[in-house]
Amino acid sequence: MSRLYYEEYGNGVYCVDVYYQRPRLAASYLIHEGDQAAIVETGTANGVNQVLMMMERLDIAPEQVRYVMPTHVHLDHAGGAGRMMGLFPNAKLVIHPFGARHMIDPAKLRAGTIAVYGEERFKRYYGEIEPIPEERVIAAENGFKVDLNGRELICIDTPGHARHHYCVYDAAAKGFFTGDTFGLGYPELAGDRDAFIMATTTPVQFDPDAWHATIDRLLSHDPKFIYLTHFGRVDNVRVLAEQLREDIDFHADLARRAPEGEGRKAWLRERIQERILERLRKRGCELGREEILRLIGPDTDLNAQGLDVWLQRGVG
Ligand SMILES: [Zn+2]
Repeated sequence: MSRLYYEEYGNGVYCVDVYYQRPRLAASYLIHEGDQAAIVETGTANGVNQVLMMMERLDIAPEQVRYVMPTHVHLDHAGGAGRMMGLFPNAKLVIHPFGARHMIDPAKLRAGTIAVYGEERFKRYYGEIEPIPEERVIAAENGFKVDLNGRELICIDTPGHARHHYCVYDAAAKGFFTGDTFGLGYPELAGDRDAFIMATTTPVQFDPDAWHATIDRLLSHDPKFIYLTHFGRVDNVRVLAEQLREDIDFHADLARRAPEGEGRKAWLRERIQERILERLRKRGCELGREEILRLIGPDTDLNAQGLDVWLQRGVG
């Protein structure tokens, strides 16, 4: 993709479309402070070119990138990290302690992703995952502070979607970069109304109780904005947090009621889709059923898979 789409929010924050699967599905955020830059979320290895185009537009040299910060190791967030580290000689990778070993030796991550998506889709979407030398990896404990030319970026441990997930608090940007922790909010579904948020229960570490505690933790910082990886900046944070909490509970309750056996995933997926259609209908969304299902299909698939795994783990 040689076209660049980005949104500029002020305070040196840029949301870059990495063209994962379709336009405005996944973002990489570039934070520019003086002569230094940090990148929150890498997209896949295929999406790195978009970030390079953004840097060129802003006249940021590869040497100026000091931190590469995937919120967690799922590949639409961290798949391009190895490639970026090869391109940015002065950068450190900042990653959750539970994710660090997967970045140093990505073999297991690769196998796990193929298990979820299949080999063919893996190749098409993710490209190759390159290992990162251990000495360039910072395992960021809760509260770890990144100093970007005097601008503080704070890593907050945020389990719920995944145990290897942190969010980045940036006081200058008045909010959090939340990866998948604040759910998905597709611009197409929001239309010109307030954002529309849904939970993402991707395999394999959905944890509803931890997730509620994480939302409390995020709100305790009173963020004005949330910078969603999927996709873009949203405000009205407390209202969206309630939507997210309801959706997490819906998913957990649904899983607990699901029938045993073969058809469980399909049963879950169908109900997850019907609920989204119903929520959108109530908001007066003008998209047709087919169009909505096209947009949410892959995620509702993943959510159903994630709930199925959750039940198999015996924690539901
Ligand atoms: Zn994820």
